[in-house]
Amino acid sequence: MRIAIDGPAAAGKTTLARSLAHELGYLFVPTGAMYRAAALAHQRGIPVERMEIAVGEGGRILLQGEDVTPLLPQPELDELSSQLAVDGRVRRRLVEIQRRIAAEGDVVMEGRDIGTVVLPDAEVKVYLWATAEERARRRREEHGGEFTEVLAAILRRDERDSTRADSPLRPAPDAVVVDTTGRTPQEVVALVRDIVLARRGQLAR
Ligand code: C5P
Repeated sequence: MRIAIDGPAAAGKTTLARSLAHELGYLFVPTGAMYRAAALAHQRGIPVERMEIAVGEGGRILLQGEDVTPLLPQPELDELSSQLAVDGRVRRRLVEIQRRIAAEGDVVMEGRDIGTVVLPDAEVKVYLWATAEERARRRREEHGGEFTEVLAAILRRDERDSTRADSPLRPAPDAVVVDTTGRTPQEVVALVRDIVLARRGQLAR
């Protein structure tokens, strides 16, 4: 079973995908972290053709074999990853890896283009949404910063991610849109778990 979770920056995709994968015993694949690792590769002067990115247990990200997971949540990489994500060469390389992982077993994969481009035949597609203000509030609780600056950075990234020519952020036509505004992470996990179990039941019939 392939579960695709898409949505804008700081909508709670990683928290949801990680919990679901853990509950279901599926592999958790955070593709945003893969784009962040590509940004790190760029900072380190590694050319796209030589970039080796892999996903390990629990969504850990390896760059040229090194576990770079703790380095990825920096605000600097928020911006650089979204700038690099418009580059077709970077996208093609990462999408190839993402499809290979999904072909090997059950996955919960989160990102921007999973239901539309990476896994258009995914059995479950969820588009996670919350107002930009709510997302800025959540981001600030985690990483601190001035509210107006955090909000501006989120809006800038939303704009770039949804207007780019290659694989723009948008809900797949068959995605279930889940508005997380005012809901706790536990409530969102429970809601999406029900969607997954209902779909599993349908497929078993
Ligand atoms: O999800 P996260 O904020 O970590 O993603 C970082 C950036 O990577 C996003 O702003 C987006 O530009 C890019 N991205 C993408 N496609 C994905 C996942 C992330 O373009 N599937």
